Amino acid sequence: MSADDGFQVRIIRSKKRRKTISGKLVEGNVVEIRAPASMSDEELRPFIERILKGFRRDRGKEKLSDEDLEERTKRLNKKYFGGKLRWSSVRWSTRQDKIFGSCTPDSRTIRISYRLAKAPTWVLDYVIVHELAHLLEPNHSKRFWGLVNRYPLTERARGYLIALGFIDEE
Ligand SMILES: [Zn+2]
Repeated sequence: MSADDGFQVRIIRSKKRRKTISGKLVEGNVVEIRAPASMSDEELRPFIERILKGFRRDRGKEKLSDEDLEERTKRLNKKYFGGKLRWSSVRWSTRQDKIFGSCTPDSRTIRISYRLAKAPTWVLDYVIVHELAHLLEPNHSKRFWGLVNRYPLTERARGYLIALGFIDEE
């Protein structure tokens, strides 16, 4: 069995297994499915689909590129700032571990911590909105938070970042 996105599925059946089905990624692209001997390919299909979906999602996150970041930033600019903001670059940064992002208003460059490439997208979106707002308000003023709070998951995302060990930039 092979999936459309490059995953190869290898099914290993065991008489000892009764109900549990598990999936593990081995050798890069091979997904090893362990299943009870009594189950047919047909019966296994929906379980395998679900397992592959999980691996696809993980892989998608690994691949978030600078281009993806640019696309997300454009979308968030449109949604929360009426498409009015302009930046020169938005990139992943590996320089700082504890800081989730930075914005240099003079050069209009935005950097986002690589550690967020695997965080839930609603957390990443908060960080992008935060840095976009700095293009208008360099500090964390009341007006700044007024802009950021347009993003409805702000409070939850801030809690999540603290849990990940991030500190705010300033
Ligand atoms: Zn800030």
